[in-house]
Amino acid sequence: MKKIMFLKPKRNKEISLLIPIRNLCSNKCIFCARGNRKECIESDYKEIIKSLSEYNLEDFTRAQIGGDEPLNFHSIKKLIRYLKIKDFKKICIKTVGRKISDIKLLKELIELGVSDFELPLYGSTDIIHDSITRVKGSFNEVVKGIQNLIKLNIYFKLHTIILKQNLENLYDLIDFAQKEFNKNIKLILLFPDSKNAREYQECAPRLSNIPQKLLKKTELYLPCINYHLDRSFTDLYKAYNKRVGQAPLRDQQNMHKLDTCKKCIYFEMCDGYYLQYFKLYGTEEFKPIQKKVSILRRLFK
Ligand code: SF4
Repeated sequence: MKKIMFLKPKRNKEISLLIPIRNLCSNKCIFCARGNRKECIESDYKEIIKSLSEYNLEDFTRAQIGGDEPLNFHSIKKLIRYLKIKDFKKICIKTVGRKISDIKLLKELIELGVSDFELPLYGSTDIIHDSITRVKGSFNEVVKGIQNLIKLNIYFKLHTIILKQNLENLYDLIDFAQKEFNKNIKLILLFPDSKNAREYQECAPRLSNIPQKLLKKTELYLPCINYHLDRSFTDLYKAYNKRVGQAPLRDQQNMHKLDTCKKCIYFEMCDGYYLQYFKLYGTEEFKPIQKKVSILRRLFK
């Protein structure tokens, strides 16, 4: 069986074990290659446990149950119980958030040992969020889920994916998360996760159309695109060193640099970008930086 987990070191040295569950999701998100599936062979509980046994579980302090929609997994409660017995101090569920609008279910998950949640919000209104998830009522459910988490004092994180479809709404979304839930919302750039990248073509915005202020908040490390107004070359280098081990494995494997990048002073430390993006928008935004000062020149020209 394909290995289903990988180590994800965190800044605070917390070591998480990611357990991706394959099943049918409750949403049909427009950016997701798996969103339109009508059928799917669900992960097998015994296979997951077998796979977990290949790891020294004592090395991990946190388990993250993710994948499609873990709360639709038929053995989710059994899996949480198992992880609890294995003495995981923290068990996080990455969910689309709709099911925890049922406070009874949420309480049950917490009693079993779930410590925290990660949830997405794609817009500050039901019209935007639901048009992205393609499920009417999904916004109201996730909002209710978040309110339930607050009511029960359970830690959670919010994120969104920057899409053509919500680009204009991102500032409102950031305000909404702050005002309604007192939370910062993590901004994520879309990853091309299918071979023909159909969803990516429909949803990924041109990088230069995303305000610099927002790009700076993402994981992106492309000095020619998101040059930082307030950072010197040395600061950029330090920032690179700090985050290089944390880039998701899939990103490190799927990003590419161009031939012209060889002239760039950032060549060694830059991640490059996706071939699907170059195919979609061309390469003209990726202008090699040849002198440290040229970043400033770019800003003021
Ligand atoms: S030109 Fe190439 S190496 Fe330089 S910052 Fe851009 S993508 Fe990276």
